[in-house]
Formats: sequence, C-alpha cells, structure tokens
Amino acid sequence: MLKFMQAIEGHRNSQVLACQLNRLNQDAQTLTYQDMWLAVDQLAGWLQETLGQDRSPLVVYGHKHPYMLVYFLACLKSGHAYCPIDLSMPLDRVATIIEKLAPPLVLTTEDLPLDCRQVTLAQAQALVQAGSYDAPADDLAVKGFETAYIIYTSGSTGQPKGVCVSAENLDNFLTWYLPLIPAQPGERPVFIGQPPYSFDLSVMSVYPALCMGATLYQLDKGLLSNYGALFDCLKQSGISTWVSTPSFVDTCLADPQFNQELLPQVRRFAFCGEKLQARTAQALLDRFPLAKVYNSYGPTESTVMMTWVDIDQALIDAYPDNLPVGRVRPGSQVKLLPLEEAEEGQGEIQIIGDTVAQGYYGQPELTAQKFGQVGGQPAYKTGDVGYFEDDLLFCNGRIDFQIKWHGYRIELEDIDANLIKHPLVGQAITLPKYEGDRVRSLVSFVVYDQVIQQRFQTVRELKAHLKQTLPDYMIPKKIVFLDSLPLNQNGKVDRKALGGLL
Ligand code: AMP
Repeated sequence: MLKFMQAIEGHRNSQVLACQLNRLNQDAQTLTYQDMWLAVDQLAGWLQETLGQDRSPLVVYGHKHPYMLVYFLACLKSGHAYCPIDLSMPLDRVATIIEKLAPPLVLTTEDLPLDCRQVTLAQAQALVQAGSYDAPADDLAVKGFETAYIIYTSGSTGQPKGVCVSAENLDNFLTWYLPLIPAQPGERPVFIGQPPYSFDLSVMSVYPALCMGATLYQLDKGLLSNYGALFDCLKQSGISTWVSTPSFVDTCLADPQFNQELLPQVRRFAFCGEKLQARTAQALLDRFPLAKVYNSYGPTESTVMMTWVDIDQALIDAYPDNLPVGRVRPGSQVKLLPLEEAEEGQGEIQIIGDTVAQGYYGQPELTAQKFGQVGGQPAYKTGDVGYFEDDLLFCNGRIDFQIKWHGYRIELEDIDANLIKHPLVGQAITLPKYEGDRVRSLVSFVVYDQVIQQRFQTVRELKAHLKQTLPDYMIPKKIVFLDSLPLNQNGKVDRKALGGLL
C-alpha cells in the first residue's frame, strides 16, 4: 500500500474531526475519522461491485462538504482516479470536462443539473447507513503510475486541460513535504482549507491533514467573502498550519486584527501558487511572533510544489524585491532552458523528477509539447522564467500569456478563445492590469462586428456570454471596443501598444 494511504488508514478509529466545514449563518458540518472510514469502506465496496472491471476516472462534484473527502478516498480505494470539480465552475465547462472524461458516474454533494449518472449525497449517505458492503481488498487501490487525481486548469485553446497526477507522484510529494511541517510538542494540528478542491493548492492541506490525523478546517465560499464572519470563525478555529495563496492572506492582513491574538495556535504559514511579496512576509513575521513563514513553488503538473524555503528576516532583508521560491526538493531537479530574450543566468524552468505528472488527460499532442524525458526521468516545461542564486531558486515572470489572479491560474488566451465564440466578436485580446507586480483586474480589447448602439448593454451581453463557459474569476472587469487591434512589425497583435491603453 502507498505510504500516504497507510498513514491515513492509521487514523481509522480516531474520534478527531477529519473535516469541519464552516458556513455563513449555518451550523458547521463535521465528520470524524472513524465515521469517514466507515463511509469510505462502504462506498468503495459499492463502487467495486457496481463498476466491476471499469476503472475509469470518476468525477467528484461539489464544494467543501466533508463527504468530498469520503468520495476522494473511496475512489482511490476502489481503484479509480478522481477529478474534483467545484460548484463555482459554470455548467458548460463542467459538461465539457464530463464529456472529455466520460466517467461511468459522478459523485456529488451539490445539485448538478446535468444529464449524467450521478450518486447524490443523500444516496451515498443511505448506502453508508445500510452498511451492506465490504471494503475492497488493498490491492484494488490506485497505486504506482496509475492516476490518483485529475485537476483541470485553464488552457490556451479555450478548453480546460486535465493534469493526471499518479499515486506515485503524490506519495513522493508527501514523503518530502510531511517532514517539513511536523506538529510541534503540544500542538493539536489543524489545517485551514481555503482553496476549492479543484485547485491543486488544496492538496497542500488535505493530504498532510489526513496523514497526520489532523482536522481540515474548511471555509465555505460564503464565508470567504464576508470578513466579519470569517474572522469570528478563524478565532474559534485553532488553526496551527495556514496554507493559502498570498492574495488571500493579504486580504486578511488588511485588517489589523489578523494577528497572533486571533490565531494563537498558528505556527506556520505556507504559500504557493503565486508571488509572495516581501511586505506580506514581513507583516506576518511582525504580527505572528510564534509562526514561521514558508514560500514554495510548483505547477499542478509537478504535484503541487517542489521547492521550499523558510522566509526569515535575513531573507527578507537580502531580497526585498523578489523573494526566493525555495530550494529544490531531493528527487527533483530544475534545468534553466535557454530563452532568446532572457537576462543572463535566466531561463525557462524545466522540472525533472519523480513528482512530474504523466500529462494531460486525452491530449497526447499537448502532453508531448510540455512533457518529456530528461536523463530517463519525467520532465515538464513550466513556462516560468527562473534563475538561481546559490541553491535558491527565484521566479521572474512567464514566457507566455498565463497569469495568476488571486492565485487562480488563467491562460489569457482561454478568455480570448471564448470571447470570439460570440458571433459578433471578430477579435479579442485580454490583458492583465497590474498594480505593482500584482494583477488587479483583467481588460479585454474586442473588435465587434456591428455598430454598438448601447455600449453598456453590449458589455453586459458579452460578459453573460463568457459566464456560460468561464468561472467568475476569468470574467474581465472591463471590455474596451476597438475598430481594429494594433499590429507590430511582425504582423502580430501589438500587446505593448494595447497595454498603453489600459
Ligand atoms: P498552479 O498550477 O495553479 O499551481 O500554478 C502554477 C504556476 O503558479 C507556476 O507555473 C507559476 O507561474 C506560479 N507560481 C507558483 N508558485 C509560485 C511562487 N511561489 N512564486 C511565483 N509564482 C508562483
């Protein structure tokens, strides 16, 4: 059995809460380890009996209900990869993913108005209650190079792409990561759950929490947009490990009450997914004298992250403009591939090693473009520009049009491709508007094929059009209409000139 599954199974009889979902103006929903395992065994047994030899991936649709964990583990135990989809994703995109994966069934905790074979929460709970199944034998569980989970990210063609992470990848990642965040003597480990499960940052809290027998303190999306209620909730949380995007902690830091008094148990902040600013790290060190601050880096394609560094005062003082993202984990290697216009010593980060995923689901061509083998090891070209100072890796932007907005990974061309699906949009280019080096909003420049009578109405219509296929965080704040897009000497759209119009 995989080491991480063994560790999680070790808490079978624990009465500790595996998950507590906190919601706005509603009671929390909870699940102990013991109840979680009772449910996992029943569901895994049922999946084995129902699906027989069919080991295709299953889709798990919902938000942060404790049963999401039951579904994930039941999939793994019964030999199925799972693909988590958050309810914030528009139905059209959910339908696209379901079409691509063609899962024999979809496990849900929320209403999913799509015509596909589903197991609803009520059905799953009734099945668990009946208790008529035996857990599958251990050798049925997902193992080795079999896919454990598939996470869909934004794709430049306007279609999402599914990263296939194997059981081995996850095991290798956790074997390295768990010892970096040991519970201190007297610490009752509690992890915050900020990102949705469809974002691989969630793996950075979910699996360590489960392996350690800790509580995953989940925050419902309603709470995340109500800071008064969120802070009340945080006060009672007992969170000891904080894992989030830097953007989320920045919004919390805007309130001076976000300090060690609010979170007396917190001992570490771990960040990944986007640039950690020195001022954020400084504010955390100042306000949380009992906690350490860690930065890490990695794409979904390399199982969450593969660098790590303790951002202490000395590092903040030494690198106030660009903090390091960390030292590369043993088992991984970073190569800097030559770039035409890069500064000396910089190059595209290629990750080589045992956490590199197998590729994109059902997309061999795209997989061949980005993945490969170097020295017999799996390798992935990230598109990130990086450089080393001694053994510390630093990031310095992208070679393409991928950005991070509040931690979300967005291929700007994904927005453009969906804009031009509108029958009256001839051309579209979306640009990020920056404040310092953080994206503040998205602006789309559109060539519209008809005289616009009411600009406001057309903007509304185009946004509604996008909302059918894109999640809210990918909808541009502003749409600017142009008669034509400026071209550069090579005849390509002149993004620099457009940038001047922001
Ligand atoms: P995702 O697959 O959503 O985790 O996004 C991966 C991308 O996020 C990377 O390729 C980087 O562009 C960016 N990223 C991740 N961690 C960091 C970091 N610590 N600093 C700067 N950018 C980061």
